[in-house]
Amino acid sequence: MAMDAEAAQTAIQFPCSSCGGPMLFDADSGQLKCQYCGRLEEIPSDTSVPREHALDDGQDDADTDWGVEQQTVKCSNCGGESLIPAEQTATLCPFCGSPKVLPQPDTVNIKPESLIPFRIDRDDAATAFKAWKKKLWFLPGAFKRENTSARLAGIYIPYWTYDADTSSSYSAERGDYHYRTVTKTRVVNGKTETYTEQERYTVWHWVSGDYDRFFDDVLIPASGQYDAKLLERLGNFELGALLGYKPEYLSGYIAERYSIGRSHGWEQAQSRIDDALRSNIRSEIGGDEIRSLHIDTSYYNQTYKHLLLPVWNASYIYKSKPYRFMVNGQTGLVSGKAPRSAWKITFFVLACLAVVGALVLWYASSQQTPQ
Ligand SMILES: [Zn+2]
Ligand SMILES: [Zn+2]
Repeated sequence: MAMDAEAAQTAIQFPCSSCGGPMLFDADSGQLKCQYCGRLEEIPSDTSVPREHALDDGQDDADTDWGVEQQTVKCSNCGGESLIPAEQTATLCPFCGSPKVLPQPDTVNIKPESLIPFRIDRDDAATAFKAWKKKLWFLPGAFKRENTSARLAGIYIPYWTYDADTSSSYSAERGDYHYRTVTKTRVVNGKTETYTEQERYTVWHWVSGDYDRFFDDVLIPASGQYDAKLLERLGNFELGALLGYKPEYLSGYIAERYSIGRSHGWEQAQSRIDDALRSNIRSEIGGDEIRSLHIDTSYYNQTYKHLLLPVWNASYIYKSKPYRFMVNGQTGLVSGKAPRSAWKITFFVLACLAVVGALVLWYASSQQTPQ
């Protein structure tokens, strides 16, 4: 396997014990692989239950020891922040490809408790992307032919997960439908007659109660780099595959620095929890209609964990507009926005119009057959 140019510039963190070459995480085997002699080395896995941190604790509770010295680098073009080993010199921004990457003065970086290691390697990701492109119409030819593999960057995207106990009290008006038979009159053929009809009416009464629920692992992206829709379209990650954090898993990949702090992340988790509670409580109230619903929720024992999830990312510029696509590093699912060729769309529209025109002419001539 050819060595990545990027890896060559990296100071060797995990030297091969037989040849001294750099060992990088290998997605196929899930082990460290020597880039010179191909020797594989197992990473002792940590299956201990990841620690939850109390949310209301200060920064002091958070572990910031990543096992290797990390530095934060920031791109002055797109604002993306990533973490690279302290001794490595920053190369290109993994988010936008710009070389304007600058080291940041000491930033506090909370260490992730766990991560899902890459299972899809660079070649798999490039193949998945090729297959995705094939299915798209109106792609500009130049973009379709382009070899994106070189631009793929393996990035660990930061996420927060939150646990919380909740206790809510609620009150609402519950409406139940009832039916009554009413007698009405109508005029048929000049005669008045009576008939009966079922009429619906709603009986309202006040209800109130308590609702307790524990929320486990509410997952919130901590990245400010991607729009939420793009991340959503990457599909779910199988969180059962989470492993305890080890710096070996990061070897050859980039960890993105979280840009959504844990308290801001908690606000987002809270609004998701509130939505879930609202629908839980509505179904507990029952009835046919609910109005004036009021819910008062207390949250306690809130804890958080910091996770890293694997994604292949590439961005490209087409006619000076940026586009981005991503491949789920665990499942291979592709998410992205593709440029469209204006020329191909125009051609397609013209072709459609031609077909419609031909049909109209054919129809008109068939109606005019001599009588
Ligand atoms: Zn070696
Ligand atoms: Zn950038």
